[in-house]
Amino acid sequence: MGQYIAPLRDMQFVLHELLNVESELKQLPAHAEVDADIINQILEEGGKFTSEVLFPLNHSGDREGCHHDKATHTVKTPKGFKEAYEQYIAAGWPALSCDPEFGGQGLPLVVNNSFYEMLNSANQAWTMYPGLSHGAYECIHEHGTDEQKSLYLPKLISGEWTGTMCLTEPHCGTDLGLLRSKAEPQEDGTYKITGAKIFISAGEHDMSHNIVHLVLARLPGAPEGSKGISLFIVPKFLPNADGSNGARNPIFCGAIEEKMGIHGNSTCQMNLDGATGWLIGGPHKGLNAMFVFMNAARLGVGMQGLGLTEVAYQNALVYAKDRIQMRSLSGPKALDKPADPIIVHADVRRMLLTAKAYAEGARAFCSYVALQLDKELNHPDEATRKDCADEVALLTPIVKAFITDNAWTSTSECLQVYGGHGFIAEWGMEQYVRDARINMIYEGTNTVQSLDLLGRKILMDNGAKLRKFGAKVQAFVEANGTNEALAEFVTPLAELGDKVTKLTMEIGMKAFQNPDEVGAAAVPYLRVVGHLVYSYFFAQMAKIALEKQDSGDTFYKAKLATVRFYFARLYPETAMLIRQARSGSANLLSLEADLF
Ligand SMILES: Cc1cc2nc3c(=O)[nH]c(=O)nc-3n(C[C@H](O)[C@H](O)[C@H](O)COP(=O)(O)OP(=O)(O)OC[C@H]3O[C@@H](n4cnc5c(N)ncnc54)[C@H](O)[C@@H]3O)c2cc1C
Repeated sequence: MGQYIAPLRDMQFVLHELLNVESELKQLPAHAEVDADIINQILEEGGKFTSEVLFPLNHSGDREGCHHDKATHTVKTPKGFKEAYEQYIAAGWPALSCDPEFGGQGLPLVVNNSFYEMLNSANQAWTMYPGLSHGAYECIHEHGTDEQKSLYLPKLISGEWTGTMCLTEPHCGTDLGLLRSKAEPQEDGTYKITGAKIFISAGEHDMSHNIVHLVLARLPGAPEGSKGISLFIVPKFLPNADGSNGARNPIFCGAIEEKMGIHGNSTCQMNLDGATGWLIGGPHKGLNAMFVFMNAARLGVGMQGLGLTEVAYQNALVYAKDRIQMRSLSGPKALDKPADPIIVHADVRRMLLTAKAYAEGARAFCSYVALQLDKELNHPDEATRKDCADEVALLTPIVKAFITDNAWTSTSECLQVYGGHGFIAEWGMEQYVRDARINMIYEGTNTVQSLDLLGRKILMDNGAKLRKFGAKVQAFVEANGTNEALAEFVTPLAELGDKVTKLTMEIGMKAFQNPDEVGAAAVPYLRVVGHLVYSYFFAQMAKIALEKQDSGDTFYKAKLATVRFYFARLYPETAMLIRQARSGSANLLSLEADLF
């Protein structure tokens, strides 16, 4: 069933030639010893694990799905998932980028990030189990008490326990201010939590000894809305002081959802019936604490989009070279065959190059953001840490929404390469399209990401974060503006930078008069800024490829072709998107709801 080979060459290009991670990490005392050899070794091992252990379970996991036993409230994951997880923890993979104080390996996030791309390419549904655990780790690491850290972190880091995020309730998803789950304080300092959560990924399963649920609920007398939400650690089994499992906590899976994709991941309705929980992050400060998890998860969902784009592309490419149909318009190419392989046809190439460009753009972008996160956490200079934090905050909604929207397009184009066979389950392509769809919805829909970018991250700080990123773009443009060989890349980058500045000011002015203008512009606006980010990275990649194109390594020729395709065929949608973003709110809001 298809193939997955980790794209090590492109990962190494991004890490070592584009981002110079080795010298960047040298500035961070925590990672100063991490060199290119270490990184390459980890990626090679990760490539083996993901292609040999996880990828073979992707299609079977999709066909089989998870099994819920109502009587025991247990969930069995698809055949092979549990054993793969045992191999994963035996190899120490969950500890890769975690804090050595609690048993982690202390490697940089930028390395973990590349590994997560591979995991998601090989098997997104499986990857969500450890992926959520990593989010829970980050949340407890930042907001937990010393006692909570020493109890939970070593188990999450070793992978013995997994984690979940329990936010959504039947009547509230986007608007968490509506949530109703209640937490009653107990004399011993714990809380009894009651409520119903839905759509909880990895809420119940058979892969780990315990499950650490991070649950949002309201304390008695809490303020209305999102200001009255607190966060609780609610373990499936109450842990004894030595970390062994104690009594079963009444947080039970009532049902699992039948869904469009990611069948191998259990999406659970969780009922809390006076379950014991421990407050984390302070009373009414739950959303603040949960944001650590949510931000990690948003970057993680972007990686899911990248992973699916890459694996769909790899398989469509193999198919396009093998499948013969019709002759090239300019005359036969495969004279030994009765027809040409479909890769000769221009439009098949357009579909393949769309996925290739979106995968390579996303890889550069995500790796950059992960490196900025490493600097935010570890750089000795406070001002640099703050700059990096601002940049990560600005770019996170773009990672989440732009990459997952592009993954939907890319997986669909790759399915199209297969013609009718793409629609047939046996080939595996339709699974990628189905799996890709959820990434645009959960962790805050892509609309919500757009509102976050334009409203909170840009307009609310008067464009300060965007200007800082713009200054980097401007510096590249100024440094390379006179290089004629680069003009085909630098000119559109510079033009788009100017257009984003003007567009932002225009929407900002309109928003003063009418806040609905933000909602009307946000989605096309995010895509325009996404293209600015990609143009910036593609122009830098083109510069390196031009410098090395005579090295004899055909990788650079392919890179240049991809960048040229990007600027010729994907970037131009910015013109349409800018018109949409400028068109105002009246064309959306003037029609009364009952006239629809
Ligand atoms: C498979 C799966 C796994 C999930 N895993 C988890 C999990 O592990 N933990 C968890 O807590 N939740 C999880 N979720 C829930 C997920 O995060 C929510 O479904 C999502 O946030 C959207 O909420 P909703 O479904 O209630 O949609 P709603 O909030 O009802 O939104 C409906 C539509 O209205 C739009 N909308 C809402 N408000 C606005 C606005 N202000 N402006 C413009 N448009 C708006 C939305 O973008 C959306 O298109 C999962 C969901 C699924 C399907």
